[in-house]
Amino acid sequence: MKKFSGSFAVTALMAAMSVSGLSQASVTDADIMQDQKTVDDVVSYGLGPRGQRYSPLDMINTDTVKDMRPVWSFSFGGEKQRGQESQPMVKDGVMYVTASYSRVFAVDTKTGDELWEYNARLPDGIMPCCDVINRGVALYDDLVIFGTLDAKLVALNAKTGKVKWKKTIADYKEGYSITAAPMIVNGKVITGVSGGEFGIVGKAEAYDAKTGKILWSRPTVEGHMGYIWKDGKKIENGISGGKAGQTWPGDLWKSGGAATWLGGTYDPDTNSLFIGTGNPAPWNSHMRPGDNLFSSSRLAIDPDTGKIKWHFQTTPHDGWDYDGVNELIAFDYKEGGKTIKAAATADRNGFMYVLNRTNGDFIRGFPFVDEITWAKGLDQNGRPVYDDTKRPGNPSAGEDGKKGSVVRAVPAFLGGKNWMPMAYSQQTELFYVPSNEWAMDIWNEPTAYKKGAAYLGAGFTIKPINDDYIGVLRAMDPKTGKEVWRYKNYSPLWGGVLTTAGNLVFMGTPEGYLKGFDAKTGELKYQFNTGSGIVGSPITWEQDGEQFISVVSGWGGAVPLWGGEVAKRIKHLNQGGSVWTFKLPKS
Ligand code: CA
Ligand code: CA
Repeated sequence: MKKFSGSFAVTALMAAMSVSGLSQASVTDADIMQDQKTVDDVVSYGLGPRGQRYSPLDMINTDTVKDMRPVWSFSFGGEKQRGQESQPMVKDGVMYVTASYSRVFAVDTKTGDELWEYNARLPDGIMPCCDVINRGVALYDDLVIFGTLDAKLVALNAKTGKVKWKKTIADYKEGYSITAAPMIVNGKVITGVSGGEFGIVGKAEAYDAKTGKILWSRPTVEGHMGYIWKDGKKIENGISGGKAGQTWPGDLWKSGGAATWLGGTYDPDTNSLFIGTGNPAPWNSHMRPGDNLFSSSRLAIDPDTGKIKWHFQTTPHDGWDYDGVNELIAFDYKEGGKTIKAAATADRNGFMYVLNRTNGDFIRGFPFVDEITWAKGLDQNGRPVYDDTKRPGNPSAGEDGKKGSVVRAVPAFLGGKNWMPMAYSQQTELFYVPSNEWAMDIWNEPTAYKKGAAYLGAGFTIKPINDDYIGVLRAMDPKTGKEVWRYKNYSPLWGGVLTTAGNLVFMGTPEGYLKGFDAKTGELKYQFNTGSGIVGSPITWEQDGEQFISVVSGWGGAVPLWGGEVAKRIKHLNQGGSVWTFKLPKS
């Protein structure tokens, strides 16, 4: 009898810990797949594996949002500030959020109290191209898993922050790093790599989430061998693209870029990972005539084997750094009484694409920015119709062989839209696209690949187009390609979007505001200044019958580092590093 009461006491204690909100996360595959519907937690990047960033919560809505107040703010502290591009996760009363320089914090969602901090203690030689940012963790079982700037995956005990396993994904001395949130699909942790500006070879890889053992590796440059591991044995699993260098001249595929730096989304309907790839290396396109597969593309990858099912290349033979990494979001729509299994993406190159997600076929494409110069449009297969006079000139054709002709290209290489995720509302059936209107002067220079060195062969200056705004939040109808409304912002937008069944769209601005808009009309319904620029992605969840909204604040990212004349225009914006949480007052 004593034994029984003892075990009951332990059970009661565990239940009490769970109620107090400080139990360790125990996240299952089902939790992740159902994340969008389960409003009491956020256990995937994108509020569901498809990345729609839509919540069915509606307590905070167009009527009530005016009363929303911050309830706590948590500082990431230290001297380590710079850009904070993270999306927090929430499970059982604990928030797991990453910060600059590969740090992770666990925070009590009720009080903002710190539970633990993990600091990856990076080596001196890391080579992040575009600030020391991180976009978030993955949760699985009792683990918090994230990627580091020295290209490792680290799995932490969710309760203590202590390392459970650690895995080197690639060599940071060659220019590799990890900035994206990993993705969990059926017990596998899926990661990509950054480093396209250093001539690395992009790849997607799957690891056993519980142990960190590698399961498959899929290079994203044509010609490289993929592998699968069975019973600990490494087995060849087919060359990406079938043959080496068919769409590349000579050996350039060996340092071809196509970095998978933004990770991806997962579509349970077709069991496909949708992973985007960055620019081909180097930027100077005259060195590599051909389509340069699979750069600047969206890939559908089988999560069980790492095989590429289909690809859609947004910018073949890219010459403008139009990385094709932006999220491809699965959604269904009705047309002529039929349900279309579609997916949409808004590319760096200024075009938004709607694809058939079962096979990658092009359904339609349309500009989501006011000006596009590099292409005259898209053909019936979605391939760009180039304007050859808008490609930066070949340096070897010039007088001194050092600098090719300068062209003005729109969008600038930072993109009509960059990494910052858009949202899709199941209520309005619109996409909310954070976009920027900017141009660049770009030219090419000779270059050669050298391990661990920048591999661009290009120079550039980004310039604003309009005096009074750069950023534009747009509501886009994927069925017609029409812009339904727009909200203009002085500074370039660099943070993610959230939409809710409360007919709201939330987004942060570099000026520091969390803003809330009417999803149907674009009317500004709410704003609050968080003290530093927002380049993170907001989330929402429910706890004890109340709806909460959280967003990370901390100005930085690629714009201040690469933005040329745009960076000068916004150099007054202050850095920071914190997470803010909001709710309605108790009625
Ligand atoms: Ca959920
Ligand atoms: Ca790039």
